[in-house]
Order: sequence, then structure tokens, then C-alpha cells
Amino acid sequence: MKGKMKAQLFYGAEDVRYSTTDIPKINDGEALVKIRSALTCGSDLKTYKRGHPTMIEEGSVFGHEWAGDIAEIGKNVDNFKVGDRVVAVNSAPCFKCYYCKLERYSMCENIVYNNGAYAEYIKIPSSILKINTYKIPDGVEYKEAALLEPLACVVHGIEESNIEAGDVVAVNGAGPIGLMFVALAKLKGAVVISADLSSERLACAKNFGADFTINASEVSDQVQAAKDLTEGGKGVDVAIDATGFPKVWETTVLMGRKGATINLFGGCKSGTSINIDTGLIHYCELTIKGVYHHTPYYVKKAFKLIASGQINSAGFITADMPLEKVVDALELIGLQKGIKYNITT
Ligand SMILES: [Zn+2]
Ligand SMILES: [Zn+2]
Repeated sequence: MKGKMKAQLFYGAEDVRYSTTDIPKINDGEALVKIRSALTCGSDLKTYKRGHPTMIEEGSVFGHEWAGDIAEIGKNVDNFKVGDRVVAVNSAPCFKCYYCKLERYSMCENIVYNNGAYAEYIKIPSSILKINTYKIPDGVEYKEAALLEPLACVVHGIEESNIEAGDVVAVNGAGPIGLMFVALAKLKGAVVISADLSSERLACAKNFGADFTINASEVSDQVQAAKDLTEGGKGVDVAIDATGFPKVWETTVLMGRKGATINLFGGCKSGTSINIDTGLIHYCELTIKGVYHHTPYYVKKAFKLIASGQINSAGFITADMPLEKVVDALELIGLQKGIKYNITT
């Protein structure tokens, strides 16, 4: 499809312009999608506020959570047709590199990120179209389906957290990612503690099933507050960071009982570090791990959770905003006002 489209173009930190650009051209094996819903995300906020390593090209389109209708299809695509309602995630592994052969697909060395959700159209590259694109079932709205990418990351995170039914799980941070952790930990049968600085966000956590909340701005010792909610004050079975702040990573480590699993999920600014008492790792046998991104398996799981309604996707969306208001929407999430905004064209 030839022509121009409206889009939000990224030029640098705090320099995003609502403008016009070419509709992406597609090749064999690819598809062009008319975007119906794009969701704001914390990483888009980071891109907007301070620039982003995968967003170096001036004038490129950004945003990566979306759903829409196939508007044009390249040759040699037999699993989709024009008019299909679809959702896709922002990458696909190559299945050929060292890490793909180890089945560590989120570590793929040839991963290419597909950005461009804050626009009228987006191209789906063939690798993503083949493995990480799904038809949206009737009865599921575009904006609900658009939650697929972040939810896939959190499904990956929850499956790596060793949660058993009845476990006490602490989730630090009640932004969109933390709230998805709360919802998924409840599906695992856990007792969930949600901690955050905002009472508004903690109220959301309650709606997603949190059994207890800790307002970190109101207690003197957040770690003790979490421990006090566990048997004999021993600490939680599983502690998860969903903030990406080194200080909170340290707090998260301290919340665990002996033998706990600590999932430091939130990505911190590069070059930062944390302090951990070595005794916690040796004498207390903590399992401390990081989890990054998603794999095709977790994308499929996340899709099923959305399609079946087991996850209340609509509950993560605060309001609709038009494409020209993307910067306002990102500013709002920067101020922790709302969870996610649904950008419509
Ligand atoms: Zn995202
Ligand atoms: Zn690979």
C-alpha cells in the first residue's frame, strides 16, 4: 500500500513529534496492519524520557504493544488474510543461533525488535508473522488483545518464579507489570502481597486479587511489614521486583525466607549495581534470578489467558486517547496516573 500515514516519530529524549511518514512497504512473507489499538508501556516512557538503545534512528516510529486488522499481505503467507483481526508481539527468535539452540529464546542473538505501534499502520516482519502473531477471537476487543506482549513477559516471569499453591508471594511495584504479576500469582493459588508507594495503585492491586498491600511510603520498614504477614515472620516464599530500581531489588532480596526464590524482574538503568549479603545466598540458599522478555511458548500461554478471559485485560486500561495525544498519555503514566492508555487511530 503506497501513501502516507500519521505517526508519532521519535527524534530524541523528550522530542517526539506527531507527524506524517510513509506507510511501511511490505515484502514477501510480511503483512501490513491497520492499527486499532496501541497501549502505552513503561519502556515507551523510558524511550520518550531518555532515549533508548533500540531506538537510535532519528525520525523512527515507536510503541510496541498493538492490535489491528491486516490491510495488505505479501506473497507466500498462507496463515493470514486481509481483514483478519490480529495481534503480534514485538520480536521473534531466529531458531538458529547459539542461544536458540539452547532453547533460551529470549537470549536470541539475532533478535530484531519491531517498533511502530504509535502510527496508523505497522509492518509485521515474516519471522514474527510465522511464530508470534495470533488471530483475535470474536468477543475479545483490540485493546484487550494488545496486552499480549507485556503479559507474555510476565507469564515468562511467573513461570520462572517457582510459585506453588499456598505460597506467600510479595510483588514490589504495582505498575502494569506488577499488577500482571499479582493477577498471575493469584491464578497460581498464591497469597499475594503487593507493595508500592501509591495508594491508588495499591487499590488496583486489590482489584486484581492482592490479599495484602503495603504502602511503602507509610511504613518505616517495608521488609519487616512483608515478613510480618508470613508464618512466624520468616519471610515470603517468593519475592518479585517489578520496579527496575536497584534499591527495590535490594529490598526484594531481603523479603525472602530461607530457600526463597527472588525474581528481580524489573530492568534497571544500565551500569547500576546492588549489594547483597553473601550469607543470604550461601547460608540461606536463596535462588536469585533475572528474567527477560518473552519466548514463543510464553506468548502462546499469554494469548490463551487473554482469549479465555482468565486475565481481565480490560482492567489494565485506564482510558482511550487519540494518536495525537501519545506524549500526554506517556506523561500521565510518568506521573503514575492510570495504568495503561489505549491509543486509538
Ligand atoms: Zn511493553
Ligand atoms: Zn536466535
